Amino acid sequence: MTPPKRPPSVEKAMKAPVFTSLTDQFGRRPVVDGLRATLDQARSALQAGDDVDLSFETLAAVVARHCHQLFARAPRPVFNLTGTVLHTNLGRAPLAEPAIEAVAEVARGSSTLEFDLARGRRGERDHNVAERLKRLTGAEAALVVNNNAAAVLLVLNTLALRKEVPVSRGELIEIGGAFRMPDIMARAGCRLIEVGTTNRTHLRDFEGAMGPRTGMLMKVHTSNYVVQGFTADVPESALADLAHDHDLPFVVDLGSGTLVDLSRWGLPKEPTVSETLSHGADLVTFSGDKLLGGPQAGLIAGRADLIARLAKNPMKRAMRADKMTLAALDATLALYEDSGSLPWKLPALRLLTRKQGEIADQAERVREPLSHALGADFVADVVTLKSQIGSGALPVEALPSTGLAIKPAKGGRGADARLRKLAAQFRALPRPVIGALHDGSLLLDLRCLDDEARFTEQLADLGTS
Ligand SMILES: *Cc1c(COP(=O)(O)O)cnc(C)c1O
Repeated sequence: MTPPKRPPSVEKAMKAPVFTSLTDQFGRRPVVDGLRATLDQARSALQAGDDVDLSFETLAAVVARHCHQLFARAPRPVFNLTGTVLHTNLGRAPLAEPAIEAVAEVARGSSTLEFDLARGRRGERDHNVAERLKRLTGAEAALVVNNNAAAVLLVLNTLALRKEVPVSRGELIEIGGAFRMPDIMARAGCRLIEVGTTNRTHLRDFEGAMGPRTGMLMKVHTSNYVVQGFTADVPESALADLAHDHDLPFVVDLGSGTLVDLSRWGLPKEPTVSETLSHGADLVTFSGDKLLGGPQAGLIAGRADLIARLAKNPMKRAMRADKMTLAALDATLALYEDSGSLPWKLPALRLLTRKQGEIADQAERVREPLSHALGADFVADVVTLKSQIGSGALPVEALPSTGLAIKPAKGGRGADARLRKLAAQFRALPRPVIGALHDGSLLLDLRCLDDEARFTEQLADLGTS
């Protein structure tokens, strides 16, 4: 009979060279914790009668995996092959190279964040970006906060605190991540007055809701859904007139909001900020990292007197954008000064305007190494797909795209579980690959596959990590 196996003590293991080198890499504490957990597992396995490899090398490999997981950088880069270009969970818009450089430069040291170089004294944090927004939108003034949710909150709290805000029932939106218009209203200290019905709202509904306590009128872009069929909504210009007749501001939350007409490049038409202002909006709020293609930010453009009131609200101080955001935003907006070259220079637009033929060629190139890496258990076919713009922009209109559909070679029982396991293996690659499980396939939409070489190279690691 062989003597019963016993795991080594923590002290003894920690003296082994494999463990001292782990300690050098990760620090002592995480290695000891990882080792304790690994030894506990080994003990339970031994008690269950399993055969357990207790060599220092094997134990160290488990602990190393534990430490790597613990210290995995987050957020870290992934391949977004979900088919949704501006994916909120995956960080929305990729930044343009000049924006990335601008971030790195101001991150490294001191900058003119709130300093007026010409006068040698304190300056305005939002000044540069505001000047660009004024030029690009025709607005009198502009202001920047951390995201569009903050922009909406700031506007409501400044212009309609303890007042009523009528909003169409068709526009009481919920955006992913718990941005719900009624809740935002409540937190901003405003009283939401629902007008009209889900599918139809008329000007007379708004007229009936106007009273001495009305603070402003608001229109919310129905970003992530459409109301179709027997519908009616009130045009912006009519709402603007009604608000102005009562000496009240009219605000439009555009959500994605673009500065240029995207139909120029074959994309569906979205209202631009300057169009919305020309329809009579006094303020427009929109996001920096949706169709604009910049960093996370909330932008507010419009009447100078209203922007001045927003700037004085102490909430603005709590929502102010940091230097990296402003640097990236300024560099992104600079690209809009020459809008003709945007599809080459702005990665978000480049991805959105990629031709299906080009994506299909890429799919043909990638299929071979992918099939090889998958082995005999799975088959990969080139399929046409429809990409989504994402982030609540243009929810119904899809962009023709191409990708790979991976299916288990044999269907039947367990096929779903095998596919799910494969999806997890793609996510465990050095640069994780995020696809979409749909109808018995793992779909990889190649519209956003930028670094093809890196993608195919790491396929060799599939299933090993
Ligand atoms: C996306 C969106 C928001 C929230 O913007 P964030 O930048 O995500 O904070 C608000 N309103 C509308 C209409 C939106 O589409």
